[in-house]
Amino acid sequence: MSTDQISSSAAETITVRNPATGAIVGSVAVQPTQEVVAVVNELRSHQPSWEALGPGARAVWLRRLRDWLLDNESHLVDVVCAETGKPRAEATFEIMVTCDVINYYADRARKFLADEKLSPHGLLTATKKLTKVYRPYPIVGVITPWNFPMLIPGVDAVPALLAGAAVLIKPSEETPLSSCELLRGWEQIGAPPVLACVTGPGATGGAVVNAVDMVQFTGSTKTGRAIAARAGERLIPCGVELGGKDPAIVLADADLQRAVNGIAWGGLLNSGQACISVERVYVEAPAYDRFVELLTEKVRSIRQGNDDGSYSADVGTLATPQQIEIVGRHVEDAVARGAKVAIGGTATGSGEFFEPTILLDVDHSMACMREETFGPTIPVMKVADVEEAIRLANDSPYGLSATVWTNDIERGEAIARRLEVGGVNINDAYANLFCFPLPHGGWKSSGLGSRLGGPQGIRKYCRQQAITTPRLPAMKNEVLWYPYSALRGRMVAALLRLLVARDIPRRLRRRGA
Ligand code: NDP
Repeated sequence: MSTDQISSSAAETITVRNPATGAIVGSVAVQPTQEVVAVVNELRSHQPSWEALGPGARAVWLRRLRDWLLDNESHLVDVVCAETGKPRAEATFEIMVTCDVINYYADRARKFLADEKLSPHGLLTATKKLTKVYRPYPIVGVITPWNFPMLIPGVDAVPALLAGAAVLIKPSEETPLSSCELLRGWEQIGAPPVLACVTGPGATGGAVVNAVDMVQFTGSTKTGRAIAARAGERLIPCGVELGGKDPAIVLADADLQRAVNGIAWGGLLNSGQACISVERVYVEAPAYDRFVELLTEKVRSIRQGNDDGSYSADVGTLATPQQIEIVGRHVEDAVARGAKVAIGGTATGSGEFFEPTILLDVDHSMACMREETFGPTIPVMKVADVEEAIRLANDSPYGLSATVWTNDIERGEAIARRLEVGGVNINDAYANLFCFPLPHGGWKSSGLGSRLGGPQGIRKYCRQQAITTPRLPAMKNEVLWYPYSALRGRMVAALLRLLVARDIPRRLRRRGA
């Protein structure tokens, strides 16, 4: 839908269903462009006083939000489960990561946003005091997908708010309720009205991009490109965290049971609907048979279902019927091209469940090895050696993250440095995402910019301002200022030459020669 079309659907609502049961769990308004603009104007009017509070006082509000999240955890988990169909443990994890990000950035906001005093680099500016100041983009738009409806808005909005920006969240129309809860929490703690949420389809997101001063987007590469193009037209910055096709490389010397356990979790967490999900596995030939045997055993032991509230399921549903269609298409395409299904392979028919699936005898002619599946499939390919594994791992338009499984850590690190991806975990999956001092971002078609990453994760929401002040009592006229009489002009030129030339004696000698 285009942003023009959205004005005609002003009175519409979106119904939210539980993908596990089909039950209606809520509804939200389709907010037309003029409402988005009005919300942004309102945020704009409150942002200066939020910025003026300073990072210490802003951190107090964020810590209150963390306490509210913890006090309301059970209800929030219910909401996340209801709109995504994910198991309770995975929904809890969304809330806890959001709280952890609040702790990390609230404790460090003052330090990360402090003015930086810099030294002049040469004689020309030696009389100046230099200060770099971080000033927030007034309004940051956070556009989020349906796979982690609490975690992603939380992780992006928290550092932006701490930076002093006002934040407008536009959640996916499939899962808008969690973001609405986040906003409810902000209002309930009585925080200044600098966080808002608008609901609607993609066109509402388009209206956000047209109105804010910076965009942080997570979602598909296709939409990410469209948003980056529009941001370019408006000359506003954007961060886009996009899809992935993350490879796992299993070396013959790996602890195979750990590799299997880690890859099963890394491939099936959130039913495989995560940008850094393990999407394809390359196993060195000597370890292949045993790896497949152990992985099949492991996946067989995993419980899929609708969590009854007692942590009764490990893996839940896919979020939408479209995801069922994509995953089914990838499995069918693989089988048609000669792959074998070791376990799983079909949608269960009731709810949006697709069985955890292992595909064998796969190759790079198949969609399951090239396109983002975003589902509970683990395609496994035998490779002759590590060189073939690295070549195939890099044979992708995506470059988000990768895992390497080996008992030789030094070798693992050397392999990591040859992979064309933004993050590598050795003998682990997802680990980099929880290490907030590290950046999380994609290379190639997996994104532009990164989130988290210590100071950078909060400074990205800021414009840098350069301030110079005199160190010495000011003169009436500076050497470089007008007028340029013949004498003064020559003196200025000579002075500049003197200041930039590093090897004056050699130059003087050359002139004389
Ligand atoms: P999209 O990228 O289309 O949606 C992500 C967010 O962007 C949603 O809030 C969406 O709104 C919004 N949006 C859509 N179009 C626009 C636009 N023109 N301007 C501004 N905002 C817009 O993801 P899909 O839901 O369509 O998923 C498609 C595929 O993307 C998946 O199959 C998966 O492969 C990948 N994906 C990757 C994710 C990741 O974490 N990297 C997350 C989700 C999906 P609305 O949902 O209301 O249309």
